[in-house]
Amino acid sequence: MPPKVNSLVFKLTEYCNLGCSYCYRDNDREKPRVVMPDEIIHESLQKFAKHIAKTRPDNEHAYTIWHGGEPLLAGIEKFKRIIDLQTRITRESGVIFTNATQTNGVMFDEEWAQFFKTNDFLVGFSLDGPQHVHDIHRKNKGGNSTFNKTLNAIETSLKYGIPTNIIAVITNESSGHANDIYSFLKNSGIKQADLIPCFDYDGPLTLKPEKYAAFMLEIAALWKNDGFQPLNFRFLGDIRKRLFQKQTNSGRIAIGCELAGQCGRNWSLSGRGDVCACECLTPVPRFFLGNIMNMDFEELNSVQGMKEVNDSLKDIDHKCLKCPVFDICHAGCINRRLKEFNLNGKLDLYCEARKSIIDFFQKETSACQAM
Ligand code: SF4
Ligand code: SF4
Ligand code: SF4
Repeated sequence: MPPKVNSLVFKLTEYCNLGCSYCYRDNDREKPRVVMPDEIIHESLQKFAKHIAKTRPDNEHAYTIWHGGEPLLAGIEKFKRIIDLQTRITRESGVIFTNATQTNGVMFDEEWAQFFKTNDFLVGFSLDGPQHVHDIHRKNKGGNSTFNKTLNAIETSLKYGIPTNIIAVITNESSGHANDIYSFLKNSGIKQADLIPCFDYDGPLTLKPEKYAAFMLEIAALWKNDGFQPLNFRFLGDIRKRLFQKQTNSGRIAIGCELAGQCGRNWSLSGRGDVCACECLTPVPRFFLGNIMNMDFEELNSVQGMKEVNDSLKDIDHKCLKCPVFDICHAGCINRRLKEFNLNGKLDLYCEARKSIIDFFQKETSACQAM
């Protein structure tokens, strides 16, 4: 049975107003200012609603993520039209849309905040840490700092009571600043942060595995000292959830794909309507499934691209099969163990880091139990 699709990432714009030095969609930054046409959005939302109604009749929620480039460049009128389309489709199908967006925050103001609050959006901001860290990579096209604009945007979002997250990209240059990044996020007022290793396959931007391990272990230790408050670090929090689930034999929990051993449930849609099995797999052509304008979800689910995903999921290293933390790690993300790049054989590039992070939390949980 093909997997049910949980969420759809819309690349509303494929251009951006910043010039981050680690943006591996370098060419996209200079692309013509194309915004995804309303016809493609309409067709996609309709087909997604149909898929949800068919595969999940007991929980008719469709998760849509408005992404870029920089999605706010599409303009607030575009977002209003999207809400109108969703309202119409909900009336016809009964499927309810839950919206999120990921922005650099530079254009975010009170008008946007009011719109996102009124329409129950979750807003993720891209900010790498305190100014001296953020400014290493995230400058505008003129080479100037964007820190204050993004920080003001986060404060406005929190002021309006919008569920607000931060995604921080961890790079070879920023990984030595774990303490500063941790303190900054702890005091930012947000409730969830996602620490993403900078990844550019075999390119020089890719965060070195030993740096990733040292960084995450330092964050984990600081977080533990604070009693795992006042915010959640998504990947670390998911590991804790999995360990708790294992120890208590509890039922289903919501965790991210790379610890769940599942791929191909969060599709990505380009401005031209081309569907990829996952946003992070878009640089690899074999994971493209087809075009949304001439195929429905069931057809897209059954094409060679999805077979490639399933084959990659199953194609794991023999070390994973014998690994004591396999039931937590699930061999990691397929994007970091692709045969095209052979970064660490069939092992996730961050295999050793994952092992030591999981080990840290295993010891921490056993120590709690022994008390
Ligand atoms: S904000 Fe995102 S899309 Fe824009 S340049 Fe930076 S990394 Fe690239
Ligand atoms: S490729 Fe990685 S990020 Fe994408 S769905 Fe699979 S595990 Fe998740
Ligand atoms: S920690 Fe490494 S060996 Fe163990 S399951 Fe994860 S990727 Fe495989």
